[in-house]
Amino acid sequence: MATSDDYEYMNESSIHEDLLCPICTDPLEDPLCANQCGHTFCRKCITDTFRNMSRCPTCRHDLKLEDFHPVTIRPFLNQLNQLLVKCKWCSQINIQRGNFKDHMINCEERMVSCPAAHLKCDWKGQHDKMHDHVNKCPLIKVQPIIDELNASVKQQSEQIHFLYTILEKISKSHSQACQERYKARGVARCDMCGKSFTFNEHIRRLHYCPNTDFCSDCVKKYFP
Ligand SMILES: [Zn+2]
Ligand SMILES: [Zn+2]
Ligand SMILES: [Zn+2]
Ligand SMILES: [Zn+2]
Ligand SMILES: [Zn+2]
Ligand SMILES: [Zn+2]
Repeated sequence: MATSDDYEYMNESSIHEDLLCPICTDPLEDPLCANQCGHTFCRKCITDTFRNMSRCPTCRHDLKLEDFHPVTIRPFLNQLNQLLVKCKWCSQINIQRGNFKDHMINCEERMVSCPAAHLKCDWKGQHDKMHDHVNKCPLIKVQPIIDELNASVKQQSEQIHFLYTILEKISKSHSQACQERYKARGVARCDMCGKSFTFNEHIRRLHYCPNTDFCSDCVKKYFP
């Protein structure tokens, strides 16, 4: 059912008070009436009220929710259906409330975005077409794969962090031994790419283990 999120009443002050709900003071929506006292309320309003009360909100008559029945008086319902509303989306005026559901299907302005908009799907369309789009949208289909990849990247980053922590400790405890070793050797071969290189201060700082040598290019590439 169309809700008042989608439309507003035109000339609301001129609407006869018999058509208004005493609880929400708007024109009745899906009206229910109690036979005992004849008072009428919106279905939603009276259902909410009877959660913590068992009296007619207007005359205080003892009632149960089951005492309320849908209003079936045709002329009364017709008057409600003929109330004129304005679409909040496209601002079209003079739509009969009873026809508003049809307007919703065709309303140009009632557009929504794809749920995968954050994955750069730029589909926008009618609320009612969303379901069809979601069934076809390739980005929604890959969403689980992207979630899986993200999870695996996160896990790998944690593992890398763990290894870095260990390397850091090893590096510290061996730093004295390494310095001695560099002084003695002067030239090394990279364990990663095999290139020969000369030890220098820069590489010494980035060196992690006494038994492993990396050239500065590999250090940049693998330990950015
Ligand atoms: Zn109401
Ligand atoms: Zn009453
Ligand atoms: Zn509209
Ligand atoms: Zn999409
Ligand atoms: Zn290298
Ligand atoms: Zn070392």
